[in-house]
Amino acid sequence: MTKIGIFPGSFDPFTKGHENIVERFLPLFDQIIIGVGGNTSKSYYYKPESRIKHIESIFENEPKISVEQYQGLTVSFCKEKKAQYLLRGLRTTTDFNYEKSIALMNKELEGVETLFLMTDEGLSHISSTIIREVAKNNGDISPFVTKPNELIIQ
Ligand code: ADP
Repeated sequence: MTKIGIFPGSFDPFTKGHENIVERFLPLFDQIIIGVGGNTSKSYYYKPESRIKHIESIFENEPKISVEQYQGLTVSFCKEKKAQYLLRGLRTTTDFNYEKSIALMNKELEGVETLFLMTDEGLSHISSTIIREVAKNNGDISPFVTKPNELIIQ
């Protein structure tokens, strides 16, 4: 059986923290799909197409990784892609409490397991929210984001 994992998120933008999580999960999977969510109740800072292109450019030399946009429930996307696992990263206890409820819901809904990796040392402070604030105020986001020039603001 092909082992497929989905790493879902808003990725507004995709950071070095996200990149590190994907790279560390990669040896465990035949294929990893980075699912860029289009949550209808959220508004985004970076254009969806540019968020996708940005992530694709980061992993352009990694054939096991693909990037797709999806709408609706993450577990429905897993079923559609025949992915057995959801992949998430954990930084803090706040992440843990939030992720725990979602993981249990997803398991009950479709039997999809969620796997977690702890953030690596030196990356736990990196968050898309703070990076957006830096970008909005003309700060340099290149310490936190690979290939930032691929990103286009809405
Ligand atoms: P969402 O909007 O679904 O929370 P995010 O794009 O904010 O999506 O994050 C996607 C996943 O990456 C989440 O599991 C989040 O906890 C994790 N993550 C975000 N930043 C980091 C980081 N610096 N280190 C490790 N994991 C991270």
